[in-house]
Amino acid sequence: MKDVIIIGAGPCGLSTAMECQRQGLTSLIIEKNFIVHSIYLYPTNMQFFSTAELLEIGGVPFTSPNDKPFRHEALVYYRRAAQQHGLEIAAYEEALSVEPLDDGTFAIHTSNSRGEHKTRQAAHVVIATGYFDQPNMIGIPGEELPKVTHYFGEAHPYTGMKVTVIGGSNSAVDAALELIRVGATVDMVYRGDSISENIKPWVRPIFESLVKKEKITLHIQSRVVEITPHSVIIQLPNGETEVVDNDFVLALTGFRPSRTLLTSAGVVMDDELEKPAFDHSTMESNVPGLYVAGVIASGRNANEVFIETGRGHGKLIVDHILMKQSSKEKE
Ligand code: FAD
Repeated sequence: MKDVIIIGAGPCGLSTAMECQRQGLTSLIIEKNFIVHSIYLYPTNMQFFSTAELLEIGGVPFTSPNDKPFRHEALVYYRRAAQQHGLEIAAYEEALSVEPLDDGTFAIHTSNSRGEHKTRQAAHVVIATGYFDQPNMIGIPGEELPKVTHYFGEAHPYTGMKVTVIGGSNSAVDAALELIRVGATVDMVYRGDSISENIKPWVRPIFESLVKKEKITLHIQSRVVEITPHSVIIQLPNGETEVVDNDFVLALTGFRPSRTLLTSAGVVMDDELEKPAFDHSTMESNVPGLYVAGVIASGRNANEVFIETGRGHGKLIVDHILMKQSSKEKE
């Protein structure tokens, strides 16, 4: 039986496993896809807003010739860092539920890509399942149409097409800029007064200039209320509606963590904050021995935890496990 089973091989799950190793605990990571799957799903040409140093885990240096690294550099970095540490990762195996047992340990029920079911046991469990699996649905008619996607990879498939981008965050702005480069017609619809304050400072002036030159049509304080096979219907600030023709819709409205595993184990959710109950100094949930790491620890605003901040959760967790073990030994 492992000391710790970590569910999710994102940057925060990996750094927790590295911390276990550093402090002498055995660990296994269960990952339903493959290592850093969320980063793999990022836009192909995405540049991080963090410097390489702030994305480092397990003391492995992340060097990049760029000010801020690109997605492909991060894929290489996290892959190499996990290999260098010799982490044990059960890939293509999904954790379906976590069951606290009477002796204080846990049974983790899983299913792999061949449809085989397993039960694994561990003294402690860390849930580090991130948020990228579950897009924020807008909840409007037509959102299920095949022309709508919540994930943007690269612009090439949209060459010469009419595309409506919904959202005003970094992802939406980056996508709009790439789309313009392949000759797409871009309408961007955002409910806020202006695009997000957090837009990467080196990107904002380029975007604003394209809006000014009317290369991108920006509809602010506006909401898409329906998607039809050939258009979107937008509600404007004055309450009137406008029909915008398109071939594709990129609904880049963010993501929210799935809490299924947490609730399967009896973790209490704070409905108001939309957050699991846990102690911020140890990351232990209300279920003794069950911890949260990374974005899953965030509330309604999933961006309150990111790699820079979540990569330190593993140390809090392992320190707490060892502290509990040593107080038990003293008893
Ligand atoms: P994730 O990276 O989401 O990893 C969770 C893993 O758990 C996934 O591999 C998933 O497949 C797996 N999983 C889920 N459910 C199960 C299950 N039931 N069983 C087994 N495995 C499961 N942060 C920064 O600090 N700097 C940046 O510059 C930055 N740029 C970003 C740009 C974009 C476009 C996006 C979308 C995010 C960015 N972030 C950035 C945020 C950062 O990516 C996330 O905060 C980070 O991925 C969270 O890490 P995590 O380990 O908590 O979760």
